[in-house]
Amino acid sequence: MQTVAARAPLASVAPQDQPARRNARRCLRVVASAQRDVSAKAFSIEEQISAMDATTGDFTALHKAVKQMAVKAGAEGLIHNITNPELREVLTELFKKYPDQHEFLQVVREVAVSLQPVFDKRPELLPIFKQIAEPEHVITCRVSWVDDAGSLQVNRGFRVQYSSAIGPYKGGLPFHPSVNLSIMKFLVFEHIFKNSLTTLLMGGGKGGSDFDPKGKSDAEVMRFCQSFMTELHRHISYVQDVPAGDIGVGAREIGYLFGQYKRITKNYTGVLTGKGQQYGGSEIRPEATGYGAVLFVENVLRGKGDTLKGKLCVVSGAGNVAQFCAELLLEKGATVLSLSDSQVCQGYIYKPKGFTREQVDQVMAMKKKDNGSHMLDYKSDTVLYVGDGRKPWEINTEIDIAFPCATQNEIPEEDTELLIRHGCKYVVEGANMPSTNEAIHMYNQAGIVYCPGKAANAGGVAVSGLEMSQNRLGLNWTREEVKEKLERIMGDIYDASMAASKEYGVDLAAGANIAGFLKVAEAVKAQGAV
Ligand code: NAP
Repeated sequence: MQTVAARAPLASVAPQDQPARRNARRCLRVVASAQRDVSAKAFSIEEQISAMDATTGDFTALHKAVKQMAVKAGAEGLIHNITNPELREVLTELFKKYPDQHEFLQVVREVAVSLQPVFDKRPELLPIFKQIAEPEHVITCRVSWVDDAGSLQVNRGFRVQYSSAIGPYKGGLPFHPSVNLSIMKFLVFEHIFKNSLTTLLMGGGKGGSDFDPKGKSDAEVMRFCQSFMTELHRHISYVQDVPAGDIGVGAREIGYLFGQYKRITKNYTGVLTGKGQQYGGSEIRPEATGYGAVLFVENVLRGKGDTLKGKLCVVSGAGNVAQFCAELLLEKGATVLSLSDSQVCQGYIYKPKGFTREQVDQVMAMKKKDNGSHMLDYKSDTVLYVGDGRKPWEINTEIDIAFPCATQNEIPEEDTELLIRHGCKYVVEGANMPSTNEAIHMYNQAGIVYCPGKAANAGGVAVSGLEMSQNRLGLNWTREEVKEKLERIMGDIYDASMAASKEYGVDLAAGANIAGFLKVAEAVKAQGAV
């Protein structure tokens, strides 16, 4: 494999310092952005996400800074640029009720801003928005457990059952020290509308714990999960609330939680999703998000009389989403030019003529080994490796579609310039919020079709919904059956987003928000003041 020489300014940084340096850069960007925005507008969701992401570094100081700025911006920041007086009133009331829940307040603001055209056209939906903004139930509990040394440990457990208008509460159950009530409410508020977009009967719920599974033994994780489920089982069931895996909650944790639920309730039901296939999990769940992103843009292209065949695609990441995105792209006849990762020092692999299926399989096998393998370890005579913190957006060739599938904020302004220079026509978000606000603005200016994560990466949550359906029917659908349903759902998401964008004269991203909201709002309206 050839290795491209690093650019001079970064070359002097030791590989082990790269992640810290990247985090520092990101922190500075977010703090700078928060300072810039304090009087102009409140913080964007993307800034909030950066602030709360403690998985990639120590964000404590950053989090504090953003909170300080939010306090300064106050209610005024929350209603900035909102012209509808009743909507301003709804937000001001929320601010008075929850002045300390900064993350939550900001996500309500972001959604409200995108829904303004709806309220202008259908003012009867404004009181419905007010109703939706208040969660149906908020459950908090103490979770006590005993560690391997025999000492008592105490954590906090949460479940925010936000909206059951269109189905049982549904959403992740993250275990992470940064979990708190404001962050739970923040994460679930948006999710209500994403679940709605999938066309499946899923409400919005989220909850978790400040327990950190990192560095704990299997026995400790099991004892914690059993203790948490002993509390949680009172509030969940397959027709009431169906939690799912999330940050810190993988197959191991789901297995322990499910086992305890079954033991207490004597019910073998699909009360959790993300289960192993031996006990009720669905086919295609690992593939669903990456496949979904490809299926979504295929619909966008079809709407323009085009196909994926021969399209030059730059993919970032080499994890779950990126791997299956690349796999389906190859199946559809597209050319996959890159994959990337973050280990040791962020880098990417690039093949000018596009990877073969065999090469994508090799990367998948390498990443599966979970032995710390990274792109530098990938050996091939036809593939270039570029390290030293660089990202595939810089590949100096014509490209048609960018698939950011790694992490949030991975396409800032300077990378967007590169994408525009290389003729990129579509950005399809496999990851959650990979494009910064500036990047999205630049896509719109440059005529790049922006496929937002809310719609483009909804394939994962859609297959979780299909797992619920299979469990309720007591059936296991085949791989082909699940794939066919996923294809239909991604098509429906595109159709609904496009129809809303045409009706309200907004872009596809705002159309997705509006379509998700309208379904929930109509259901809430029909069900009355409950
Ligand atoms: P994953 O399996 O952990 O893979 C993430 C990939 O991104 C890895 O290759 C990782 O590199 C790379 N990466 C992580 N942080 C990075 C950074 N700061 N800079 C550059 N590369 C970085 O995760 P995933 O499940 O594919 O999820 C990827 C994104 O999609 C996340 O934003 C996630 O929230 C979102 N998403 C996932 C799903 C799902 O069903 N999995 C659903 C909806 C949205 P290493 O291999 O070196 O760690």
